[in-house]
Amino acid sequence: MERYREPTVAAPEEATGEDRALRPQRFEEMVGQRQVMERLLIAVDASRKRQEVLGHILLDGPPGLGKTTFATCIPRELGTTLQIASGAALAAPKDLLPYLTNAVEGSVLFIDEIHRLPIAVEEFLYPAMEDFRVDITLGDGVAARTINMPLRPFTLIGATTRAGLISAPLRDRFQMREHLDFYGVEELAEIVRRSAAKLDMSMDDASADEIARRSRGTPRLANNRLRWIRDYSTSRAANEMNVGVVRTALEMQGIDERGLDGFDRRYLETIHRVFGGGPAGIEAIAHTMSSAPDTLEDDVEPFLLRCELVVRTPRGRRLTALGEEHLGVVRRTDQGRLF
Ligand code: ADP
Repeated sequence: MERYREPTVAAPEEATGEDRALRPQRFEEMVGQRQVMERLLIAVDASRKRQEVLGHILLDGPPGLGKTTFATCIPRELGTTLQIASGAALAAPKDLLPYLTNAVEGSVLFIDEIHRLPIAVEEFLYPAMEDFRVDITLGDGVAARTINMPLRPFTLIGATTRAGLISAPLRDRFQMREHLDFYGVEELAEIVRRSAAKLDMSMDDASADEIARRSRGTPRLANNRLRWIRDYSTSRAANEMNVGVVRTALEMQGIDERGLDGFDRRYLETIHRVFGGGPAGIEAIAHTMSSAPDTLEDDVEPFLLRCELVVRTPRGRRLTALGEEHLGVVRRTDQGRLF
C-alpha cells in the first residue's frame, strides 16, 4: 500500500511544478551533505527497527540547500505521511491545531521557517513535542479552564534559515539538530548533471562544472541557472550546450564568475561606495539599498561571508581585501606601491 501522501501545502517554489521534478525523492538521490545524511539515516533506521517514533529534528542553513528536500525524503524512508506548514502562516494556536490533530502515529509534520512562529504558538507546541498533548483553554477569566488533549505521537521537522532566532526552550525540544552547509563545486556539478538528465538535456562535464562554479554553493540556484541556460540554448543557440553558451547565458543574467548576481554586487558596492568599505550596520545598508535587513541576512550575506568577501565585526559589516578585489577596486594606500 502506498502510504506516502503528497504535502498538503506546497513549498512556494513548487508552484512552477518543475522544481518538484528536480527535487530528489529519496535519500539515495541526494548529493552531498554526507555527514548529515548519515546521521539522519541512522536515526531513521533505528526508529524503523525499534518501531518507535522518530525524534524531532531541526534543520538549519541558508535557503536552497536542501532542508525541505530532507524533510520530504524522511517520511518516504519511514513509509509514513507528511504534512507541511509554514511558521509565517501559523499566526495562532488554532492554526496549528489541525496539523497536530491530523497527524497519524509516526507521521511527520514539517514546519518551514519555524523561527517565525509567534511565541503563543511556540508555547502551544512545547507539550505537543514533549508529551504529545495540547493544552486548550476554554472560556475567559475566572471561568477559564484548561483541557489536556492527547495527540498521536508524531515527528516534528523544523527548518530555519536563522538558527540564532530559535529560542532555547524550542531548540532543546529537538532531539537532533543538523546544520546544512554550502555545497562544493563537485557536488553541485553532480546535481547539475542529474538535473540535466531529468530535463533530457545533454551536458558535458566542462559545462556542468561552469554552472556549478557560478551557483553560489546552492543546489536551488544550480537548478535555476540550468533551466535558464536551457532556455537560452533553445532560443539563441540552436540547442547547443558548451562552456561558451553557459557563460554567455549567465552573463546575460548578470551572474559573474564567482556566481554572484547583480543584487550581491550591489550589496558589496553599497558598503564600498556609501560606507567607505565599512564597518556599516545591516539596517543602514538595507535602508540604502531599499531592501529588508532580513533579505540581506538570509539570502545575500551567508555566501559572501563564506567566500570572505565581507566580514561581520561588532561594529558592522566590512568589505575585505578580497571583496574589494572582486569589485575591481584598487585601494588608495596600495596605489602608490603599484608604480
Ligand atoms: P531549502 O528548503 O533548504 O530552501 P530545498 O530543499 O527546497 O531547500 O532545495 C531546493 C532545491 O535544490 C530542491 O528542490 C532540489 O531540486 C535541490 N536540492 C537540494 N538539496 C539537494 C541535494 N542534496 N541533492 C540534489 N538536489 C538538491
